[in-house]
Amino acid sequence: RHFLARIERLDARLNAFITVTAEAALAQAREADARLARGEGGPLEGVPIAHKDIFCTRGVRTSCGSRMLDAFVAPYDATVVERLRAAGAVMLGKTNMDEFAMGSSNETSFYGPVRNPWDPERVPGGSSGGSAAAVAARLVPAATGTDTGGSIRQPAALTGITGLKPTYGRVSRWGMIAFASSLDQGGPMARTAEDCALLLGAMAGFDPRDSTSVEAEVPDYRAALEAPLAGLRIGVPREYFGEGLDPAVAAAVEAALRVLEAEGARLREISLPNSRYAVPAYYVIAPAEASSNLARYDGVRYGYRCADPRDLEDLYKRTRGEGFGAEVKRRIMIGTYTLSAGYYDAYYLRAQRVRRLIRDDFLRAFEEVDLIAGPTSPTPAFRLGEKTDDPVAMYLSDIYTIAVNLAGLPAISVPAGFAHGLPVGLQLIGRHFDEARLLGAAHRFQ
Ligand code: GLN
Repeated sequence: RHFLARIERLDARLNAFITVTAEAALAQAREADARLARGEGGPLEGVPIAHKDIFCTRGVRTSCGSRMLDAFVAPYDATVVERLRAAGAVMLGKTNMDEFAMGSSNETSFYGPVRNPWDPERVPGGSSGGSAAAVAARLVPAATGTDTGGSIRQPAALTGITGLKPTYGRVSRWGMIAFASSLDQGGPMARTAEDCALLLGAMAGFDPRDSTSVEAEVPDYRAALEAPLAGLRIGVPREYFGEGLDPAVAAAVEAALRVLEAEGARLREISLPNSRYAVPAYYVIAPAEASSNLARYDGVRYGYRCADPRDLEDLYKRTRGEGFGAEVKRRIMIGTYTLSAGYYDAYYLRAQRVRRLIRDDFLRAFEEVDLIAGPTSPTPAFRLGEKTDDPVAMYLSDIYTIAVNLAGLPAISVPAGFAHGLPVGLQLIGRHFDEARLLGAAHRFQ
């Protein structure tokens, strides 16, 4: 009731929620109370959460921030939704997001932008901007997000919360609407590393319904939080402190690194020489996969259908023309172009090779260091509208996060002070499946 009352009072301004499921939440909460009274209940029994509106929820609209799915009600729950519910979590609603998770500011949503609780004239980041703003404004203690190129970490950084992008394959993608399937990964967004550890423990694990889900033991992430940092080797990539980084952000991140050093971690400079190719490679690969994944929205099987189509071609054209927003269309056009005969080798295949080089950079670095640390985002939250006319400027706000997805690595953004009075995130990147170590280091900032 406390959180529902806050949503009621504050969300008209923030626009963090697309759908609030108050009645169902209260019913679930009563069941949770009854289980707790009997001494039963899961690790998250009765804990209110919100789901990014990209996760399918049975009987509750799943819009993906798009007009295309404005009236779509999924007939099943995503694995993440199912698992968190089984752990006892109570869903309060579905959060706002960039359309089909394409964006870094939450301004591409069909439902309008989300405002940053720290300054309502600024963006909360994206694409999981609704989840980030909801947690930051204490409308909910924790939420789910997805991260294809930074969409958990960048909004976490811009709103002063903690967000973890797990290793690719750690959390099932089943029931999570596909954007770029080889990069998409769901994860937790919460106030602290400890809360993220609790959520990840419930979300992670093998799922036979996702062919890229990995059959690996889920460790007790919470138990690993107190592991000492003495002797931990942390690599600081020189490429992450170059041109484009706001000096006030750099200062906050350097102060955070000294906190880890004071706990016994050893910092050393490293190089990730192919970093500068990450954004260009991503903006070939992600749109290519998106153009293929979004072909299913044809007006026949899912969601929106245009009125009175004359014939099949008219149905396709007008449904997609009216149902998708400008950024989604831009991605579909780029992706269709780079996958077409004659351009495939020059763009798509080349981007895949660059992707391998980027991954190799990380694997080489991890022979010498246990974690990699740097800023999550080059600037704090920017103004609404500031980058909407310049897609490339918008794309550059993910310059430090995108390589992690190309390499399939886990990474966390944790609050690391302020720049210009706005929150700054420290990004920690780990080896594949080393989420426990990331959470342990992030736990120092609670
Ligand atoms: N901002 C990036 C994009 O627009 C990443 C989004 C994401 O991680 N979903 O594609």
